[in-house]
Amino acid sequence: MGELPAFEHTPIESIASTVNGLRASFLTHKTRDIDFRLVQLRKLYWGLKDNKDLIIEACRRDLGKPTFETYLTEVSWCMNDIVFMSNNLARWVRDESAPDVALTNKLFSPKIRKDPLGTVLVIGAYNFPIQLSLGPLIGAIAAGCTAVLKPSESSPNAAAVMQKIIAESLDPSCYTVVQGAVPETTALLDQKWDKIFYTGSANVGTIIAKKAAETLTPVTLELGGRNPAIITKHADPKLAARRLLWAKTLNAGQVCVSQNFTLIDKEMVPAFVQEMRNSLREFYPNGVKASPDYGRIVNQRQFQRLKKMLDESKGKILIGGTMDEAELFIEPTIVQVESMDDSLISEESFGPLLPILAVQDLDEAIKIANEVHDTPLGLYPFGTQKEMEKVLSQTRSGGASMNDGYFHASIPTLAFGGVGSSGQGAYRGKASFDVFTHRRSITRTPAWIEGMMDVRYPPYTAKKQKK
Ligand code: NAD
Repeated sequence: MGELPAFEHTPIESIASTVNGLRASFLTHKTRDIDFRLVQLRKLYWGLKDNKDLIIEACRRDLGKPTFETYLTEVSWCMNDIVFMSNNLARWVRDESAPDVALTNKLFSPKIRKDPLGTVLVIGAYNFPIQLSLGPLIGAIAAGCTAVLKPSESSPNAAAVMQKIIAESLDPSCYTVVQGAVPETTALLDQKWDKIFYTGSANVGTIIAKKAAETLTPVTLELGGRNPAIITKHADPKLAARRLLWAKTLNAGQVCVSQNFTLIDKEMVPAFVQEMRNSLREFYPNGVKASPDYGRIVNQRQFQRLKKMLDESKGKILIGGTMDEAELFIEPTIVQVESMDDSLISEESFGPLLPILAVQDLDEAIKIANEVHDTPLGLYPFGTQKEMEKVLSQTRSGGASMNDGYFHASIPTLAFGGVGSSGQGAYRGKASFDVFTHRRSITRTPAWIEGMMDVRYPPYTAKKQKK
């Protein structure tokens, strides 16, 4: 497997010249060549495959991530994205004819050309350190941009492995990694970019958007949200419990699209809680803590934040509640809360805490969901088809999975993103290419048409105006 590389901060004084170098490379036009892009994507694919074991070890150290989860949600996730991108790139880069063109305008061959945006910055989050960093980078490469990746410093081992893979696999004059925390990111934001693609919290997203506005730099923001699950009295409690428990235990609940609270019809509470208990036993027959299939909280800061949320809650713990600070372990914890103002609902938990709030009926659930956060990243209704459609038609969210926890996020061809305060812009599949592409409108006016064009030139005689 080899040694895990060390995480080292990039010297701040080197950042400006790094970015200038990438911009100079972009201006050589070499990333415009489709074969160049395909070769880079292929090399990244093999870099991931060859370093699979290092990635698994890095994610284990950073987040206690189970091997299977790392393989599924980081390694093969990115490799599949590369294959899909490579298979479709030649088609996506082709000029598109303008739609609905009048016959006379066809003479001007109106087209949309797919231009790379330029030199871009990708800032990653810690929870899926590989996927959330390389996913956008794959789109930037495919679109023909040069790029800096700034992974999250909170998962330093994964960040260091990505730096090694990128340095060994990709053209260093076009793609590089800058390592660091706030000072390094601030120095990066002082540079001029053609796009900033940011994944992380809304607080930092606001800092990034403000900074980008100073230079009119476009941003894509993939942010968090307090995502509701809604369970009606007609839902299947076993199905809802299994699926929502899975959504809260993957990556120890550190999933931006995971449900942050569950609004449940009062009649369903006992059955749902019992099914949660059953599912927990089924998933972790020897106990959660002893299981190799359950991760850990990323660091002390996040552990203490989650502990405080639970300590401040006025709710009743129905399942779990155990923590081990030394191991950064938090048991999947179901808490019945009495009000939407409870600390477990009013903040994004981003961990394995699952508050449930009993409601009178579906109308009340929809009302509360809209009041807690009118534009969450995800939304998860369980009930009859009609009930789930009603939820969708009376709420907004970045995406939604009916009868499941965030399954929509695992469809590689479905654009993923937030809305309102959960983000702007989307990526994955073709959307990852589009997000780094400028759709440049072009026409070509043939020389032979000049006689017909005469009408537009002054003097605007009465004869011309009659035409
Ligand atoms: P974060 O915002 O703390 O950090 C994300 C990145 O921003 C890191 O690379 C970090 O170095 C940088 N950063 C932090 N503070 C900064 C500052 N003051 N100035 C400039 N850059 C700064 O987010 P996180 O803790 O890594 O992730 C948790 C949050 O991200 C949650 O809110 C979660 O919902 C959200 N998230 C969203 C998605 C999505 O796809 N929508 C995915 C994962 C996480």
